[in-house]
Amino acid sequence: MEKIAIFPGSFDPITRGHASIIRRAIPLFDKIIVAIGVNALKSTYFDLDTRIKMIQAVFANGNKIEVQNYTGLTINFCREVNAQFLLRGLRTSADFEFERSIGQINKQLDPYIETVFLLTKPEHTAINSSIVRDILRHKGDVSQFVPAEVLQFLK
Ligand code: ADP
Repeated sequence: MEKIAIFPGSFDPITRGHASIIRRAIPLFDKIIVAIGVNALKSTYFDLDTRIKMIQAVFANGNKIEVQNYTGLTINFCREVNAQFLLRGLRTSADFEFERSIGQINKQLDPYIETVFLLTKPEHTAINSSIVRDILRHKGDVSQFVPAEVLQFLK
């Protein structure tokens, strides 16, 4: 059976931290679906189309990586695309507590789906999309925090 993982998030925008987790997970799975969760009630800095294009640009040469968007429960989207694995990155103990609760609840909702965690590389621990958005709002330089392919979308 094909091993399919989804990597859910809002990716507003994708950062070097996200990209590193996805890259490191490539040898573990046959396919990784980067899944952009869409919440109609939340506004985002980048529209959905731009977020999809940014991720596609970062993984232009990776035939194991797909980008999709979804609404509703992540676990339901896993079932829709036949994913048996949910990939998550862990930066800090705060991430751990948050992820532990979601991971355990998801396991109760669907015992056949496993959440797989990769520890963030030390140099990516401080990076998150919300800080990147703050820097962008104030016209700062985010080039250290996002993959080089993302820069073309910022102009
Ligand atoms: P987003 O930041 O895209 O809104 P999340 O914060 O839920 O969404 O991130 C999606 C996934 O990416 C989570 O598993 C999160 O732990 C992971 N992640 C976010 N930032 C980093 C980072 N700097 N290094 C590694 N993993 C990260």
